[in-house]
Amino acid sequence: MPDIITLGELLIDFVPTVSGVTLIEAPAFKKAAGGAPANVAAGLAKLGVPTGFMGKVGDDAFGHFLAQTLKECGVDVRALRFSTEARTTLAFVSLRADGEREFIFYRHLNTDMLLVYAPEEVDTDYIRSGQAFHFGSISLITEPSRSATLLAIDTAKASGLRISYDPNLRLNLWPNAGAARDGILLGWPHAHVIKVSEEELAFLTDLDLAGLQDLAGLKAAARKLWHPNLRLLVVTCGKAGSKYITPSFCGEVPGFAVQAVDTTGAGDGFVAGLLKGLHQHPQADQDESLLREICRYANAVGAITTTERGAIPALPTAEQVERFLQSRQ
Ligand code: ADP
Repeated sequence: MPDIITLGELLIDFVPTVSGVTLIEAPAFKKAAGGAPANVAAGLAKLGVPTGFMGKVGDDAFGHFLAQTLKECGVDVRALRFSTEARTTLAFVSLRADGEREFIFYRHLNTDMLLVYAPEEVDTDYIRSGQAFHFGSISLITEPSRSATLLAIDTAKASGLRISYDPNLRLNLWPNAGAARDGILLGWPHAHVIKVSEEELAFLTDLDLAGLQDLAGLKAAARKLWHPNLRLLVVTCGKAGSKYITPSFCGEVPGFAVQAVDTTGAGDGFVAGLLKGLHQHPQADQDESLLREICRYANAVGAITTTERGAIPALPTAEQVERFLQSRQ
């Protein structure tokens, strides 16, 4: 049985075959596995952590491609469901020359937008068998996957699993900004570990992004959203690296300079590195030097992920990360 279980969306990203174009300009698209919690599962498995993924795809060629992709990374997919009623979700995604991301989602009519689970499909025994549970915010957008996600979180909590959350703001998938904030905050009070970007923290706290650049501003923002279950908040800052806040200490760990070609999946790679570290050292939130090492490792995973195209194909193995870190001593 897996040690870490992630739950959420698994979909096909169609990405343009050339970079820096709009969806209108794109001449052709290449299919790639997508979905943040699925990327995290793939990242953990590639790093050598026994990991399972819970989610749902259509019982079609795309769904089977996704299952196969996760399996090839070593992810346990026994809790992956195949729907005979809905097709696998497709997303056409482009990173424009101005750095803005464009998305168009194609989904089966009258079904949950991103096909996660319905509550009755959640295998609670599977969750109980794990040691840590990770989720994102996309499965909180619509019913029935919202209730399914909350049920899975409750199950994980009741069984004493460490719960981690990466809200991954995708404003255009929510009805409006208020619904996004409220929906994202539904998952917030349950998590022991939360990873956000600076932009997400600014959005959730309604604070100015510029005010979050130094640690004092970041601490003030974190205080607004702190809750009794939270042991560690990690804020990723692109190539600048990451910052950590616990009830006892906070600090920042610089990123690595690399030739980035595609930042897709960097945040998910980072989360995989972070969760691997916390899995190996569950008390790291009380030991600052250990936590700094873990953030450095996670920064390395994130940085390596940017050096190749796509998310899952770019996620490194444990050996690749070790080699990278040794070369940067
Ligand atoms: P997200 O994708 O969630 O917005 P980030 O872009 O902040 O997350 O990336 C996550 C982590 O990946 C960063 O904290 C950093 O360690 C690493 N990273 C991201 N982009 C780069 C880059 N261009 N160069 C080096 N490291 C990067």
